[in-house]
Amino acid sequence: MSVDGTESVEDFRLRARRWLAGNLPPTSSGGFGRRTAGSDEEELAEVATERRWQRQLWDGRLAGICFPTGYGGLGLTPAHAAAFNEELVGYAYPWRLQVPTMTPCAAVILEFGTHEQKIAHLPAILRGEQLWMQFLSEPGSGSDVAGAQTTAVREGDEWIINGSKIWTTGAWWSDWGLCLARTNSDVPKHRGLTVFMLPIHQPGIEISRIEMLDGSKEFCQEFMTDVRVPDSARIGGVDDGWTVVTRWLFHERTYASSPLTIRPARGADGARGESGASLLSLAEQAGRRDDPRARELVGEAHALTVAVRELDRRVHAAIAAGTASDQLASVSRLMHGVVAAQLNTIAFDLAGPRAVAWGAPDEELGSRGISYLTRQMASIAGGTTEMARNVVSERVLGMPRERTLDRNIPFREVRNSSTARTDGRR
Ligand SMILES: Cc1cc2nc3c(=O)[nH]c(=O)nc-3n(C[C@H](O)[C@H](O)[C@H](O)COP(=O)(O)OP(=O)(O)OC[C@H]3O[C@@H](n4cnc5c(N)ncnc54)[C@H](O)[C@@H]3O)c2cc1C
Repeated sequence: MSVDGTESVEDFRLRARRWLAGNLPPTSSGGFGRRTAGSDEEELAEVATERRWQRQLWDGRLAGICFPTGYGGLGLTPAHAAAFNEELVGYAYPWRLQVPTMTPCAAVILEFGTHEQKIAHLPAILRGEQLWMQFLSEPGSGSDVAGAQTTAVREGDEWIINGSKIWTTGAWWSDWGLCLARTNSDVPKHRGLTVFMLPIHQPGIEISRIEMLDGSKEFCQEFMTDVRVPDSARIGGVDDGWTVVTRWLFHERTYASSPLTIRPARGADGARGESGASLLSLAEQAGRRDDPRARELVGEAHALTVAVRELDRRVHAAIAAGTASDQLASVSRLMHGVVAAQLNTIAFDLAGPRAVAWGAPDEELGSRGISYLTRQMASIAGGTTEMARNVVSERVLGMPRERTLDRNIPFREVRNSSTARTDGRR
């Protein structure tokens, strides 16, 4: 303990080390489970297990390391979170409960929620009782988040939501959604948006699962018809949703280094836990330990891992110190997308032929083939790397803004695919 009664980083580290050894199962996969789960029953069982692990962390006084104590957290520092993540290496952990539940969703509630909203949701999140998803992307607006067409119309103390969201990862096994909706079409697009919290499983929300080429069905599309939410579920001001979304996107872009999440410390891509060391073991499994080409690849992977980690640290430090704007987070977001694809390519190369045709004993090598095929995911999820390049050039470096046709005109006058259909113009 320090003089002010706070658990010191080293005491906390030792407590975490003891607890992890007695509570979470060891794993060699970086702690990150399969993206392409087997059957629905298997995936639901995995989600249930992760909820249980989160509850165990709560019971062991290790959940919500950097969340305020008043909302169920431990009120500790990013240094405590970093120590925990170092100890977490080699253990399975509740990875599905980290992103987007802890960040950006809980981060947004922490920043913009009322005291009542925080009390209602944050402790439940930390106990593993509430899994959250982001209802941001729509069939007609992904990169152009401010172009949302889902509407929320006020009726007394309630709002009635209609529209569709898409690409929501795991909505079918989640509990709550953070939803962006249009509440005013008479003002330019950024000024008529509002954010709401809503239970995902309720009358009026139909969840349709999207089957990918590899058979996985993690993505969902939601159709919302006259969904009623109380005004008390509104996050931030009416029509002021863009203020919330700006910070929401910041939390999303920095998810891989957020102190609100836990993840094994080695991870460069924030997800699979890739590192020079884990790729070295992959090269060994593939019988290529002495292969000069493999050595080069492992070295490159290690350098990329270190560079991204240090970049994250510096970007976080500059934003926290106020010497850089939140927009600098796009530099981190861009590098994570680029490096994740490169690490997956390196892993595929190292794994060799058994990454494309594998038998049961080679499952680890075979999974590298799947990761290679889906390597661009990290360049799309959380906003594309193209959009990150735009932000870096325009907002960080001050280059001329991209030309847009919808600035400063009421949203209802903006031409989009639906207006083009109804007014007969092309
Ligand atoms: C693994 C994964 C998980 C996801 N999870 C969620 C989720 O939980 N919730 C959610 O709401 N969404 C989620 N998404 C959706 C994701 O946010 C969108 O796919 C992404 O923002 C891009 O939007 P879009 O697919 O509509 O593509 P579009 O916006 O139609 O873009 C198509 C292409 O055009 C490029 N482009 C568009 N505009 C510009 C521009 N101005 N300048 C340069 N290039 C441009 C894009 O970069 C992209 O390459 C997820 C996506 C993935 C891959």
